Amino acid sequence: MIDGRTRTCGLIGNPVEHTMSPAIHNTLAQAMGENLVYVPFPVPQGHLEEAVKGAWALQLSGLNVTVPYKSQVIPFLRELDPLAEKIGAVNTLVRTEDGFKGYNTDMPGLYRAMCRDGVSIEGERVLLLGAGGVARAVAILLLEKNAREIVLLNRTPEKAEQIAAEVNALAGRQLARALALSDYVTLPERERYLAIQATSVGMFPHVEDAPLEDPDFYRRVHTGYDLIFNPAKTKFMSLVEAGGGRACNGLKMLLYQGVIAYELWTGATVGRKLEETAYQAMKQAMGI
Ligand code: NAP
Repeated sequence: MIDGRTRTCGLIGNPVEHTMSPAIHNTLAQAMGENLVYVPFPVPQGHLEEAVKGAWALQLSGLNVTVPYKSQVIPFLRELDPLAEKIGAVNTLVRTEDGFKGYNTDMPGLYRAMCRDGVSIEGERVLLLGAGGVARAVAILLLEKNAREIVLLNRTPEKAEQIAAEVNALAGRQLARALALSDYVTLPERERYLAIQATSVGMFPHVEDAPLEDPDFYRRVHTGYDLIFNPAKTKFMSLVEAGGGRACNGLKMLLYQGVIAYELWTGATVGRKLEETAYQAMKQAMGI
């Protein structure tokens, strides 16, 4: 029950109507007996600074940040976690004494999801499809978790080249390289790769699309990890399975970015059973 001691967390973004985060956080708070509510707050363009200051003045314990503010919010924070700084994007704000501290839980969330799915990064040769904001963050995760090789494939190769150069500068060696999507044919045929799908191709309602259609590409993939969560089974995933590989979707990444944010706000550790409860609540809210 909401009373005078209820703590508030929330989401700022534009739009926020379709978010699944309230299902995750309110389920966790209820199950853990935490007097906390989570509310989405749409923030119109041009009002981000006021929103962050207002949230702090209103004693909000924490916020998630979504599109289009994940980078724009950084100047309005008191402090930045080193990983968020490296990635250049913040999706979680935690209240401190004199302002909010920014974190990125999307990448730790993806990492926890991959661990739960039994997909490892260390020592892997990885094909990373896409070169947008999320792909850039994934490339940094792959560097941090000691991937053996990163090949960035993107429709616009220049964007992939820029990310590869950034990763190589951070790594201090030639860890990443870029190719145009269709140039996958130049990859050695005998290698089997972990492929992470970080383009927006195949998202609802364009469920019949995949960034690559050629079965020859999918024969090189032992595991395909699609970051898309709607639909729950993408065309990319079907093509991976048709090629004999294992396929996972982005639902658990979505869950764990929320679980990790909740842990930062409350100091609690969310156990496996509660993770599962929140996962089911999230899927129910999505109608799957
Ligand atoms: P973004 O910055 O807009 O980047 C989109 C990427 O998709 C770019 O690499 C773009 O290539 C590529 N692309 C778009 N249309 C294409 C087409 N028709 N053919 C080939 N490539 C195309 O998006 P983002 O913020 O990085 O997000 C990427 C995806 O990550 C989202 O769509 C979402 O599904 C997923 N995501 C998942 C979670 C989760 O919790 N599971 C969280 C965040 C995001 P160009 O560079 O050539 O334009």
